[in-house]
Amino acid sequence: MAKKEKQACDVLISGGGIPGLTLSALLAGLGLTVIVVDPNPPAPVKDLKPDGRTAALMAGSVNILKAANLWGKSETYGAPLETLRIIESATARVDFAASDIGQPYFGINMPNAILRSLISGDVTTGEIHAIAADDVGLTATLDNGNVIRTRLLVGADGRDSKTRFLCNIGVWERDYGQRAITCLIDHTKPHENISTEFHRPGGPFTIVPLPGNQSSIVWVEYNEDADTFLKLSRQNFEQALQDRTEGLVGKIILATNPASWPLKALRAKSLVAPRTALIAEAAHVLHPLGAQGLNLSLRDVAALAEEIADAARNGLDIGSHNVLKAYEFRRKADVLTRLFGTDSLNRMVSNDLSLLKTLRGACLKTINAIKPLRDFAMNEGIVPGYDESRLARGEAL
Ligand SMILES: Cc1cc2nc3c(=O)[nH]c(=O)nc-3n(C[C@H](O)[C@H](O)[C@H](O)COP(=O)(O)OP(=O)(O)OC[C@H]3O[C@@H](n4cnc5c(N)ncnc54)[C@H](O)[C@@H]3O)c2cc1C
Repeated sequence: MAKKEKQACDVLISGGGIPGLTLSALLAGLGLTVIVVDPNPPAPVKDLKPDGRTAALMAGSVNILKAANLWGKSETYGAPLETLRIIESATARVDFAASDIGQPYFGINMPNAILRSLISGDVTTGEIHAIAADDVGLTATLDNGNVIRTRLLVGADGRDSKTRFLCNIGVWERDYGQRAITCLIDHTKPHENISTEFHRPGGPFTIVPLPGNQSSIVWVEYNEDADTFLKLSRQNFEQALQDRTEGLVGKIILATNPASWPLKALRAKSLVAPRTALIAEAAHVLHPLGAQGLNLSLRDVAALAEEIADAARNGLDIGSHNVLKAYEFRRKADVLTRLFGTDSLNRMVSNDLSLLKTLRGACLKTINAIKPLRDFAMNEGIVPGYDESRLARGEAL
């Protein structure tokens, strides 16, 4: 039998998704020792199979990645979102231009898998099997029997978080009975860096720009309808996309096979446990409407990194109750408002009730007509006013 290894680190991160890897890079930059464990570490970019999942990263998120020295090469794979267009009906259509609030863009749309590969450092293959916290640290036993002693454990292991389970943290959740169908498309007309969201009875249908004449699709439908669309032949699926995009980007050719993602809202009842913090989808899962999930997750990363940095600089214990509670306090309002916001918006949008349709159209027109309201809505999307993260504002850790 192979001898079991014992390692020690300042911070152990369970989950090497984009938030976990970003936190790892920020903390390593402070001189802390970090171990990331993940059963599926990122593959090199050259080995990736093309997939249709992308994320629109708002300016605050780009700043956080830049602070972690992770942006560099990534930028060339993304396209700027200069205008956000919402099409409610033939008569209610609104364009929000980043230039109206003095910004070059709202965000950059990036393929998730490519970004994850580009920002990946060392990732240990495996998962945590058991944990035991005490006054000065936490001992984690991996599935292969190896043991890691750490001062702080961060659960960044996604919506079915093992860390959350091991800490016995309960969740509130709501299944939307909807799925997001995603794919990349090539098209004959330029997208002009406009992200277009159509409001349809099954849910929003969004075309999000990528470099060149390529875009990603996020198409939300109730489960049964999603099943029907996913069974279509390639030609019929392309025609369905063609019908829904109303000729905006010209003729469409599928660039990846369609995939689908079940949609739910979830919130961990606590973001912390002894010597442990939850971030990203381990802590909260949102409806993709409004492109908030990863942006919210990166704001968790920024807040936790800042609390750890401040404690480390003052010679304090980075895994103490005070540090963890400060992190939780900073994140509560942002998480709750985004969760409630996307949940309410989805209920408003994903239906065909004529009264609600009229109300939605009227709301859009009101926001569009009142400049301070319009500017507030746009600025909130980029860096929320109540988020105190210095990293999101473009300052150093
Ligand atoms: C269709 C769709 C479109 C979206 N578009 C946007 C968008 O435009 N903008 C935006 O901000 N957000 C968007 N989101 C949300 C965004 O994708 C998620 O918020 C983000 O990917 C969450 O990252 P995560 O690291 O928490 O989870 P994941 O990306 O799921 O990563 C979790 C990581 O943990 C690992 N893991 C799993 N189990 C274990 C374990 N037991 N131990 C250790 N590691 C483990 C996994 O291998 C993985 O690497 C979208 C979501 C969907 C579904």
